[in-house]
Amino acid sequence: MTDATNTILVVTPHPDDAEGGAGGTIAKWTREGRRVVLVVCTNGDKGTSDRALAPAKLAEIREREQLAAAEVLGIDEVVFLRFPDQNLEDSREFRLALSRQIRKHRPDIVVTIDPNRPYIRHRDHYMTGRVTLDAVFPYARDHLAFPELIEEGLEPYKVPEVWLFRPESADVHIDITDTFDLKMDALFRHASQMSRPRETSEARSRERAAEIGKHIGGGLAEGFKRITLFRG
Ligand SMILES: [Zn+2]
Repeated sequence: MTDATNTILVVTPHPDDAEGGAGGTIAKWTREGRRVVLVVCTNGDKGTSDRALAPAKLAEIREREQLAAAEVLGIDEVVFLRFPDQNLEDSREFRLALSRQIRKHRPDIVVTIDPNRPYIRHRDHYMTGRVTLDAVFPYARDHLAFPELIEEGLEPYKVPEVWLFRPESADVHIDITDTFDLKMDALFRHASQMSRPRETSEARSRERAAEIGKHIGGGLAEGFKRITLFRG
């Protein structure tokens, strides 16, 4: 990663997951001049305990919050796929939607959530991680995979590498000491999702980041599982 103009495509299940898992790293990348595109798979319209809040209204609030959070992190573009919350499926439609974004943006790195958490996991998180990996390989790569993408002018693309946030086992640790505050600012733009006061939540996140930071000799860090696919 020496080219300061390279592109990173971040695929998140819900508004707020990418900030929590990779917000400090994303802020670091945008500060370095990298172009970051965020793809939000679901509309987040089930994530509330407020029974008076209609799902359509919640979806609208969550998109607004997501745009505000993306601005804090310096994200260049946010794409809302608007699949219904808690209903992501490993469908042709979802695979096509993610393959389209990969072919369109031709990222140097695709970042998404680790699908491999055992037992209790959010189904949307699993589906997002799994289908993003499938879209990377083989669907974005093969020209016969989705003829409609060729018709749209979107040629096949080989993603060089994938980074998984919230990994079961991390092998890359990124120092976010300088961008931790931005990560928290972005996270708290998702006001409708934040059940705890900022001080409590921030203290916990700091503790977790410091724990990960021990892998790189101190400071605050985020961990990723890195998968290398194609080398140019
Ligand atoms: Zn989520």
